[in-house]
Amino acid sequence: MRIETLAVHAGHGVDPASGAVTPPIHLSSTFERDPDGGYRAGHIYTRTSNPNRTAVEQALAQLEGGAVAIAFSSGSAATQAVFQALAPGDHVLAPNDAYYGTLRQLREIFAPWGLEVDVVDMANLDAVERALRPNTRLVWVETPSNPLVRVVDIARLAELAHSVGARCAVDNTWATPVLQLPLREGADLVMHSTTKYLGGHSDLLGGALVARVDDELTQRLLNIQKVGGAVPSPFDCWLLLRGIRTLPWRMRAHCENASLVATFLSTHPKVEIVHYPGLASHSGHEIARRQMNDFGGMLSVQVRGGREAALELTRRLSLFTRATSLGGTESLIEHRASVEGAVTLAPENLLRVSVGLEHPDDLIEDLERALAGI
Ligand SMILES: *Cc1c(COP(=O)(O)O)cnc(C)c1O
Repeated sequence: MRIETLAVHAGHGVDPASGAVTPPIHLSSTFERDPDGGYRAGHIYTRTSNPNRTAVEQALAQLEGGAVAIAFSSGSAATQAVFQALAPGDHVLAPNDAYYGTLRQLREIFAPWGLEVDVVDMANLDAVERALRPNTRLVWVETPSNPLVRVVDIARLAELAHSVGARCAVDNTWATPVLQLPLREGADLVMHSTTKYLGGHSDLLGGALVARVDDELTQRLLNIQKVGGAVPSPFDCWLLLRGIRTLPWRMRAHCENASLVATFLSTHPKVEIVHYPGLASHSGHEIARRQMNDFGGMLSVQVRGGREAALELTRRLSLFTRATSLGGTESLIEHRASVEGAVTLAPENLLRVSVGLEHPDDLIEDLERALAGI
């Protein structure tokens, strides 16, 4: 099946109890035990499993081409589960431009807990090779990355990880399974913040892991989910599955709009540089063409005039909301340096844009008007 069909049908079935075409929301925290002690549908207690969560996990596993999906209450909880599955003394290699919260977890929670952590520029495969150690257990990859929308080669990084017996996990939040399938490239685990494109409407918080095979690590991750308890609510699972149904068509429009906005910005005299992998001038363009089906809905732009000009642009826009996050129907713009503080790699004149599903001409007219005023 093609991904559009999978997105509509994966995890879906007519409800056998009512005939409902749209799945009911099972808010119940607990499930009746049969007289013989069994559980008729296998569900015992909603922390351990729930019909809405099971449905969304089946859908995510199918979309990513994995054996098992494990849903969490946020992308950060999914990331944390991966680090928790390691042991003190294990070495983790992460990209120097990984999601801000991922690097914070490593620095503030897991380094004190005993993980050995190194960050490198993962576009530089020699640097990655030099940073690997005999005790490296995990190579964390994120592509496209934040805030420079850099693209790295998943297949090569997975190969390098495997050469020292480490696993390769890919944060696939920005690409989604519509644009990129890391497990097919050789990665072992995919991580998602389903808060973003998968949910797609800026109205839920969620995360997920998808494992290529059901092995000992997968069982440890499932145990962390069920025993640790950072699980999504049945309502959030229901919203997420509803979002997934339109994911391929939304991604197509996000990509088309972002490409038009990036092209417009890249020729504007008040723009220093646009970071978008769809532009031939982008450093990751060739890898993106090979590894991705399209170039995504995220871009960042550095404007002339420094921090003040960048902030002034955000004040003059009317269709782009000043807010963090991404992947919803509405376009968002954000000054990353002021969000990330002292540790940021984001230049002061950089704005990150999540290009939404408005008409691209309206977005471009809004940008044109606002740029004229800075
Ligand atoms: C948002 C995000 C996360 C964290 O997810 P939450 O759902 O906010 O916890 C992780 N990685 C990337 C790339 C993200 O954009």
